[in-house]
Amino acid sequence: MQTTLRFHAYLPDDVASEAWLQINILRQIRNHAVRDYYSADYTDKPSDYDQHKKLSDWVGRWPVFGKPSRHAAQQAISQIHSDLETLDGRRDNGYNVGQLRWQGHGEFRSVSYNQASRWNVDHNTGGDRFVRLRLEKIGWFNIRADRVIPEPDEINRVILKKETTGEWFVSLVVEVDEPEKPELSEVSLDDCVGVDLGITSYIHTSDNLSVDTLDLSDEYDRYSREQRKFNRKEHGSNNWENQRRKVAKAKRRIKRKVLDYQHKLTTWLVREYDLVAVEDLDVKPMLETSQNAKNKQDAAWSRFLDLLEYKADLHGTHVVRVEPAGTTKECSACGVSTHKPIWVREHSCPACGHTEDRDLNAAKNILNRGLRKIGAGRSESTPMQTALPTSTPHREAVDAKRVVEVGSPEA
Ligand SMILES: [Zn+2]
Repeated sequence: MQTTLRFHAYLPDDVASEAWLQINILRQIRNHAVRDYYSADYTDKPSDYDQHKKLSDWVGRWPVFGKPSRHAAQQAISQIHSDLETLDGRRDNGYNVGQLRWQGHGEFRSVSYNQASRWNVDHNTGGDRFVRLRLEKIGWFNIRADRVIPEPDEINRVILKKETTGEWFVSLVVEVDEPEKPELSEVSLDDCVGVDLGITSYIHTSDNLSVDTLDLSDEYDRYSREQRKFNRKEHGSNNWENQRRKVAKAKRRIKRKVLDYQHKLTTWLVREYDLVAVEDLDVKPMLETSQNAKNKQDAAWSRFLDLLEYKADLHGTHVVRVEPAGTTKECSACGVSTHKPIWVREHSCPACGHTEDRDLNAAKNILNRGLRKIGAGRSESTPMQTALPTSTPHREAVDAKRVVEVGSPEA
């Protein structure tokens, strides 16, 4: 499987302005190829190979198109075709999708290479904090080596990107070995967990662990303060530009903190368990009230799930996505469904008398559904078939910080 390592990049001024200039030209090539694609007859759409060949004609007509690496230009064109495929896939799945858009200045911010002959790595920088990287037609610059930089021929792809904050980053896409996942029949029930995507807590597990929502109030305060200052600046002035960067930085700090938190939570889950059952939010994103749906969206759940699956592959853990409808209504002890308004925090079953925390009950249902789902292909006498214990483990509220400590930052 592939994984992406991201590094802070420090470009000398001349290299930075050259790189940004080339990225802007790649944007124009990309826009031109999009127009070329859509203006072609329905029966005769060009493939990426066709457009790679046309590139020579385009360079002949607009010599500026010859400024970036030809290879990088082909990459920008190939990206369109991969985006078109994604759009087709979504259309086939019933989504209402539009066309690829023309991209304005600043909307296209990266250059990508996928042949080892297009880059060099130099470790001899006189220190171990930095490593030098060279990209074809752009030149040499430093990247901060917070982790081991792979050898040039171990890298599948290099992407240089200028963020809206003005900072540069390099992403190295590398191949890593995927660990074997344990046989489902070998997984013990103790190593399985159901995770409820919470309303009052960030997650609640079937082991009755709840993890608090990340407190971002300081970060949000800072962001709105910078935004207010920005609104007062004269449009286009130097101060305006500086303030625009500060706003982008404040926003990115929030994003980074959330991402970091999600990394730690997901790492903790996949290290702690062999099987994690979660609600599949793609199936029914709008659960319960619209406020709830909004909260869930705010918490970037779909990314959390993507991260969880990504980590699970790295650590050899199973992730089972289950149908989310009714997980809070159903009784985890007897299976009878009872309607509960969102403010009722306790599950109390009129059928069997079982009572427990609403989120814990939901997490148990999620685990049950996950076990049932994988149980389909299993033999009759595996421990997984055993019903879950109905006794309630002692509820433990986990401070986000503790998870952060338990979760290793390695992946
Ligand atoms: Zn019941």
